[in-house]
Amino acid sequence: MARSLPEISPRGWKSLNIVLPSLAEVRIALTGGRGNAKFHVPPSDLRRYNGACRHSKSATYPLLEVFDRVCKKCDTILPTASDALWRTAAFVAHRRDLLNRDMADREPRTWLGYARNAARH
Ligand SMILES: [Zn+2]
Repeated sequence: MARSLPEISPRGWKSLNIVLPSLAEVRIALTGGRGNAKFHVPPSDLRRYNGACRHSKSATYPLLEVFDRVCKKCDTILPTASDALWRTAAFVAHRRDLLNRDMADREPRTWLGYARNAARH
């Protein structure tokens, strides 16, 4: 199953210097995650009583902190507003990453350099 939410670039997000409490407050019920183990989206209640392990109790975690540790096979589902906020943050952080890279570019300002930059975006 494809991952439904894009990963937020930690470096891009940090350099934006934006605090979005509502994004930090997005929490999701997950299982696993002990030590460095991956987190998993718990099975639905119906599946839980139909063969899934009853010991796999879930807890809620701030999605922003554990996103890169969620198993890639487990899709994450969020309420629509949080989903939109997440996608926006991921998009902005990605653009900031590109901007940071371009600003660090010390190549001479030429048309060829401009064309290379334009091709990357
Ligand atoms: Zn999984």
